Amino acid sequence: AREAYIAARPKSAAAYERAKQVMPGGNTRSTLYYSPFPTAMESGQGCYMKDIDGHDYLDLCGEYTAGLFGHSEARILKAIEGAIGRGLNLAAAGERESVFAGIICARFPSIELVRFTNSGTEANLFAFSAARAFTGRQRLLAMNGGYHGGMMTFAGGGSPVNAPFPVTLAPYNGIEATRALIREHKDELAAIIVEPMIGAGGCIPASREFLQMLRDEATAHGIVLTFDEVMTSRHSAGGLQKLHGITPDLTTLGKYIAGGMSFGAFGGRKDIMAVYDPAHPKALPHGGTFNNNVLSMSAGVVAMGEIFTEEASEAHRARGDALRDALNAVCRKHGVAMQFTGVGSMTQPHFRSEPILRPYTQSATEEGVRELFFLDLMAAGIYIARRGMTALSLPVGEAECARYIAAVEAFCVARKPLLG
Ligand code: PMP
Repeated sequence: AREAYIAARPKSAAAYERAKQVMPGGNTRSTLYYSPFPTAMESGQGCYMKDIDGHDYLDLCGEYTAGLFGHSEARILKAIEGAIGRGLNLAAAGERESVFAGIICARFPSIELVRFTNSGTEANLFAFSAARAFTGRQRLLAMNGGYHGGMMTFAGGGSPVNAPFPVTLAPYNGIEATRALIREHKDELAAIIVEPMIGAGGCIPASREFLQMLRDEATAHGIVLTFDEVMTSRHSAGGLQKLHGITPDLTTLGKYIAGGMSFGAFGGRKDIMAVYDPAHPKALPHGGTFNNNVLSMSAGVVAMGEIFTEEASEAHRARGDALRDALNAVCRKHGVAMQFTGVGSMTQPHFRSEPILRPYTQSATEEGVRELFFLDLMAAGIYIARRGMTALSLPVGEAECARYIAAVEAFCVARKPLLG
């Protein structure tokens, strides 16, 4: 499968050789590197893409959830084109940003006040700074295997990578153990950060009981509970927090919300967010040249105000749930050690049969099968994340779902001896 992948992609291989001359590992976004070399894409339209060697793909990667609207959605293009001719960077307050902020505050139950950033990473860093200023404490409690951006990566056996502050790592969905850690560190903890469904770590949903325990402990000890909904905010009009009926103190957002333009946001309780009010006696600075950039603000108003309405988000979640049910039915039918986890439109295959409660380190066999899954799907013209995740975009319909189900079934049949 690897040889076939290489043979079919001479231009991608050459592009990778050139890229290595000027970027470490030929890459400027670690997520997109994989061995032997990443397929270089040329263009996209709706839920389809073309690579530079001329292959067509059904795009189920969905830009790791940022591509919710599909490629070149007409209304978003129109919003961007409308803005482009009136000056890109005005270095001034505008009206669009407060309209956009109003839409976000109205949608997410926890968000009373919001601020924009350029990425989800920045949103999480600024949210944590707010929590530190508000509580006067310094430590973060995060989940082992959680991902909150390049500067807040907690995957890989538990050693915090890149985080410029003290972190305690807790086991996701481990109610007793996590409660004990919170109580042990309660006087030092400024914030708890949690993805209500772990995304990059494997599309693993938190139990409602786990999230409720975090809510209760945070309230009891004056710790700022932060939901990282950078990926999961798509799962209902008001994110997973609304679906669970659990309201964090702060929420961070990113990915699709500005219609695919660069974006991040953090928001929540008025009293906490007030640390960024310039009139606050100890106001924290929150700079960012592109925080209110005209293109993101313009695209976001249309994306969230007109396209991804409450009804659209409910229908999208239902489509994703139905797809995952069908994929799991295929796995059961063929009796393979394989399952799909997730919520709504985000799904991840796992090559083991026991219930999956938290991120885990794969065996070498599992990693081999995972690579094969990716290669077989690429050969079938279906683009997924190298780690297996799919994030449906809105243009993905019944026919596309059926195509993915058929490809997964073909994988189960062809690779059954490896799926024991
Ligand atoms: N939080 C979560 C849950 C994410 O999945 C990501 C990105 N994959 C981030 C934060 C960081 O967002 P960005 O890549 O925009 O910095």
